[in-house]
Amino acid sequence: MYDFTLTPIPARVVFRDGALADLPAEAEKLGTRFLIVCTLGRRGLAERAAELLGDRAAGIFDQATMHVPIETAEAARVEAKRLKADACLAIGGGSTTGLAKAVALELDMPILAVPTTYAGSEATSTWGLTEGGAKRTGKDPRVLPRAILYDPALTLGLPPDVSATSGMNAMAHCVEALYAPGGGPLTSLMAAEGIRALARALPGIVDDPEDREARHEALYGAWLAGMVMEAAGNALHHKLCHILGGAFNLPHAETHAIILPHATAYNAAAAPEAMRRIAAALGADDAATGLFELNRRLGILTALKDIGMPAEGIDQAVANAVKAGFWNPVPLEPQALRRLLANAYEGRPPEPHLASEA
Ligand code: NAD
Repeated sequence: MYDFTLTPIPARVVFRDGALADLPAEAEKLGTRFLIVCTLGRRGLAERAAELLGDRAAGIFDQATMHVPIETAEAARVEAKRLKADACLAIGGGSTTGLAKAVALELDMPILAVPTTYAGSEATSTWGLTEGGAKRTGKDPRVLPRAILYDPALTLGLPPDVSATSGMNAMAHCVEALYAPGGGPLTSLMAAEGIRALARALPGIVDDPEDREARHEALYGAWLAGMVMEAAGNALHHKLCHILGGAFNLPHAETHAIILPHATAYNAAAAPEAMRRIAAALGADDAATGLFELNRRLGILTALKDIGMPAEGIDQAVANAVKAGFWNPVPLEPQALRRLLANAYEGRPPEPHLASEA
């Protein structure tokens, strides 16, 4: 029997090759003076956006960086006030959108997002700020971008390795949405479709980063991923990655990609229908193994030890996870979590959670 609550995301979405050309028309609906935020690497693209915006471009802030350090957020807020900005344009990946959210959170201004990776942050009301080595996150409707321009042509330059890990980060949002507490029939349809689109597109991108059809499909999957994460929430995978990233400063998308098959295997017994849908969307016999094999096909590193995780960090991460006590379909058991992390640390294939480990 159905039992769900759904709040559709109130964001306007334009999705097509060349959607950036719609920037002036979309900006007109949201503000008169835009602060444009980007990473240093996307500066050229931000300048193109500024040209398109004309008088509506107040200035560019190009210091976006991973995990939104509070000092960067403060500097962007000061710049927004100095420029008398009344809206923010985020053009780039999750780090850029995250910085725009930090500005919007304090100055209460609308965000127009032009995503150029597969992070999915543009479709969520989740913000994050890093202060003194610890990342705080929260949800606030004011940070949800009011309009999103998805232009697959802008993703053609995203390097294949970044595309692969960023795409598996989006994949993780879809996988967890199939068993997360806020899910329902519509989010499950979108999540399964996101998995299908990403699983089809990512190998094509790794083989040929200029494959326009694959780029189109991957960005479409990323949009679905952001929406289902916002609506359905998440569980072990996301929380564990947050703990690992915060404690050991591991790279965001790589950590998500490595942990995903293991967290899926951990939860498999408690979510058989989700596993069936994940496997079917991947075109695999088994959900967790299919995700592990996809990581390998994409050339993604499969071991936490290869991305900076210290061996002695496993026990600390287990302790933090148990202490955090978040919701998960399978209870958080220290011994089973230790085995999950040991497998991920070594890059071994995922193993199912065994009830006898309790
Ligand atoms: P990112 O934004 O840090 O981008 C990675 C790198 O790719 C950057 O150097 C960037 O300049 C470059 N880049 C971006 N687009 C490019 C393009 N088209 N061509 C060439 N280079 C390009 O990485 P990300 O994975 O997009 O985002 C990760 C961050 O997003 C993390 O801080 C994470 O916590 C956050 N995030 C937040 C949410 C949320 O809902 N709040 C969701 C997912 C991720």
